[in-house]
Amino acid sequence: MRMSKMLIPTLREVPAEAEISSHKLMLRAGMIKKMASGVYNLMPFGIRVIKKIEDIIREEMDDTGAQEFLASALIPSELWKESGRWDAFGPEMFRLKDRNQREFCLGPTHEEVFTDIARDEIKSYKQLPLNLYQIQTKYRDERRPRFGVMRSREFIMKDAYSFDIDEQGLDKSYNDMYKAYKNIFKRCGLETSCVEADSGAIGGSGSAEFMVKSEIGEDEVAFCTECSYAANIEKATAVAEIAEKEEPKELNKVETPDVRTIDELVEFFDTTSKKFGKTLIFNADGKTVAVVVRGDREVNEVKVVNAIGGAIEFELADAETIRRVTNAEVGFAGPIGIKTDILLIDREIAEMSNFITGANDTGYHYENANYGRDFEGIVGDYRNAVEGDKCPKCGKTITIARGVEVGHIFKLGTKYSAAMGANYIDENGKNKPLVMGCYGIGVNRTMAAVIEQHHDDNGIIWPLSVAPYHVVVVPVVTKNEEQMKVAEEIYNQLKNAGVEVLIDDRKERVGVKFKDADLIGIPMRITVGKKVSEGKVEFKLRSEDEVQIIEINEVLQKVKYEFEKNNVRL
Ligand code: ATP
Ligand code: MG
Repeated sequence: MRMSKMLIPTLREVPAEAEISSHKLMLRAGMIKKMASGVYNLMPFGIRVIKKIEDIIREEMDDTGAQEFLASALIPSELWKESGRWDAFGPEMFRLKDRNQREFCLGPTHEEVFTDIARDEIKSYKQLPLNLYQIQTKYRDERRPRFGVMRSREFIMKDAYSFDIDEQGLDKSYNDMYKAYKNIFKRCGLETSCVEADSGAIGGSGSAEFMVKSEIGEDEVAFCTECSYAANIEKATAVAEIAEKEEPKELNKVETPDVRTIDELVEFFDTTSKKFGKTLIFNADGKTVAVVVRGDREVNEVKVVNAIGGAIEFELADAETIRRVTNAEVGFAGPIGIKTDILLIDREIAEMSNFITGANDTGYHYENANYGRDFEGIVGDYRNAVEGDKCPKCGKTITIARGVEVGHIFKLGTKYSAAMGANYIDENGKNKPLVMGCYGIGVNRTMAAVIEQHHDDNGIIWPLSVAPYHVVVVPVVTKNEEQMKVAEEIYNQLKNAGVEVLIDDRKERVGVKFKDADLIGIPMRITVGKKVSEGKVEFKLRSEDEVQIIEINEVLQKVKYEFEKNNVRL
């Protein structure tokens, strides 16, 4: 392409709205343009990268035997009512009505649609296993759209749905997707870690996320420093820290006027937060749930929701509810005598001796509380894992890092097929529900994550595999006939060889051309300047500082070598 004929809306200024590198650089490189909160137009360089990522995804998916589909984004509400998700999805779903008042949504995901296709089209075990995928636009009215296309309200997702006869079949489909995802992200130049993820209260039997480690990540991941254990903090098993048991002492009610928070208690009792049992009260679909964890721990709401069998609405209880279940003002809740519908006790609390906790009486706490003797409840793991915890797999140390989720693989089991009657006839003529998996990749988010991992102060450094163009040919002085002639020759030679090449024939200073080439991140730059009279040009990789002087007739070979080196087909 001739850059003089292209729309190249690059910006020199850093846009004020952007907080993270990838968002800033995408705006500055003119890849995206914002239309509304979380709604972006893809500009020419942006869509080229998206297509590259999509092509890699297609190749790897097709390689596993999966088959491409394209479902409609407009989905009738009936399907969602069958699965029970019309209500469960809540405000994240964009809903609309047609002229006859029929309800629809803009698909936030497509389990229902693909289950519907499967129940109509799959009759017999002979048609299984089957894996259907699509690359399609999704709509989610995110509570907090941010970071540009990392979390937007319209985005492109590759979603796949597998159908098997049994769990064993699902395991194989899931593993095939795991391998395909590893290949996809590697080919995009992304370093990812595959981490165990929460699969929800009624979800299936396994789930893993592909995470890109990054400061700006919205997920926290627990990694073992020694073994391969890695899990989303939502899921990571928190190994209880067990102190030596003491002889139980007599329960003692202490007057603690105006002492409510853990900090105030630590000062009042002159001890550490580890000696306290902290009680949090939640509302879960109209039921009250108390959770008791050690004073220095954080309650893990995902674990709690799973433990109570799922909840659509789940939030901290208001002051009135707290007064009702504790018979006290806020700040004095404890497990002894509390009147919540459900009482959950973290494992650590069950192991502690003689701890301090609220007395459910305004202005009082108990000393020497002990599980079993003074109160009982459902004991389990309800806290967040923290840095320094023991690894649940090998016992060594856990560290916590932030990550961006770019992909998700999920064993659904028969959740949707049973709800929607998607069955097949097995070998013995029996009717059975299809065993399903679902697998997603955020295409735009992947593009942003690649930039997060590949950039410097001057701009993006695209891996060759996903670069919008491979090479830019820069004539230093456009008015110089010889330079333009050679630049054109190189441009045509590369184009004919199948290289995606730009020629910067704009009437700009060479400094501007270099700045744009660096900002947009074109992997190879060929500069045609004064040395052309000696038959030489400059060859520079965006990823390296070194400028090489090469013969004009070496250019194609040099470029081809980069393709080989990076394992990218030309
Ligand atoms: P998150 O926890 O980030 O909201 P999710 O669990 O809702 O993600 P899935 O429903 O598993 O995501 O969707 C599959 C993939 O789609 C995610 O791994 C992610 O890459 C991408 N994705 C999800 N929501 C968005 C969004 N709002 N903007 C861009 N990509 C998204
Ligand atoms: Mg989400």
